[in-house]
Amino acid sequence: MIWLQSGGCGGCTLSLLNAEQPNVLLALEDMDIDIVWHPTLSEASLDEVSACLEQLLTGEAPVDILCLEGSVMTGAAGSYHRLPNGQSMASMITQLANLADYVVAVGTCAAYGGITASGDNLTGAVGLMFEGSQLGGALGGAFVSKSGLPVINISGCPTHPDWVLDTFALIAANKLTHQDLDPLGRPRFYADRLVHHGCDKNEFYEFKASAEAPGQMGCLMEFVGCKGTQAHADCNIRPWNGNGSCLTGGYPCINCTSPDFADPGHAFFETPKVAGFPVGLPTDMPKAWFVALSTLSKSATPNRVKANATKDRITVAPSLPESKKK
Ligand code: SF4
Ligand code: SF4
Repeated sequence: MIWLQSGGCGGCTLSLLNAEQPNVLLALEDMDIDIVWHPTLSEASLDEVSACLEQLLTGEAPVDILCLEGSVMTGAAGSYHRLPNGQSMASMITQLANLADYVVAVGTCAAYGGITASGDNLTGAVGLMFEGSQLGGALGGAFVSKSGLPVINISGCPTHPDWVLDTFALIAANKLTHQDLDPLGRPRFYADRLVHHGCDKNEFYEFKASAEAPGQMGCLMEFVGCKGTQAHADCNIRPWNGNGSCLTGGYPCINCTSPDFADPGHAFFETPKVAGFPVGLPTDMPKAWFVALSTLSKSATPNRVKANATKDRITVAPSLPESKKK
């Protein structure tokens, strides 16, 4: 496996280094995956890396898995990111991708452009096979690697370490098929879930008891911009760092696995509304039903839930049944 970094922050590698049970090196060893080069994990000198890339490009050594972290910067003929020999990183990525059995985009930048492509995108940052949610990108929308699969988009900003390692495990076992990827190329083992699933604020969501600021206990959808009901990921089922998620930390889900998350058109911590109701409702729920149900829920909210929603800890405990009171 060779891992390249281009237009990104390196955060997906930092996240991968948080893999536990086992750690990343043991996990790769168990899968029989050798790291030919990784900018953080390898000790090779520049000369050694150049020689290694040459071996891959000439076919002397196989490219089983090519991972890219960060976007491909195509602006100014790739001159924003050049290798020491003057070649653009964009052309190196393309050459290696055409030789690889599997091409893996690690993180939303590599998959869709991500944060690097947000705003005016002066560097021409794109994903490997997508530009935002549109097929295209550096390799073109019809790209397939030698295994017959398109780019595997482990989106997330950053990605969860398990999403990367579980994908590698499927590849190493020759078990990853087209059916295991969703229409945006994301592995379905995590992308068929919603962040809303398993969120510890679900009781507040049920009663539309809302937080008014980050860090409060209530549901963050109504005022604080949470997109967990639309975000494809299993963050609240598969904890991060062994314990938690953005939501358990009191922050709203910003839908970082989605192609266009970095340009939402509003502040991340704000909920855009029309006639008092959030614009971004759950994708599979009719709006009229949501409005009716949320109005009913609000009128039935227990005082305990209402009181706790705007606090940073439990201030009203659940009441005991009359028979248990002394
Ligand atoms: S996806 Fe996010 S964490 Fe990963 S490289 Fe891009 S900006 Fe950094
Ligand atoms: S905070 Fe977000 S993810 Fe959690 S229950 Fe509310 S809408 Fe769902």
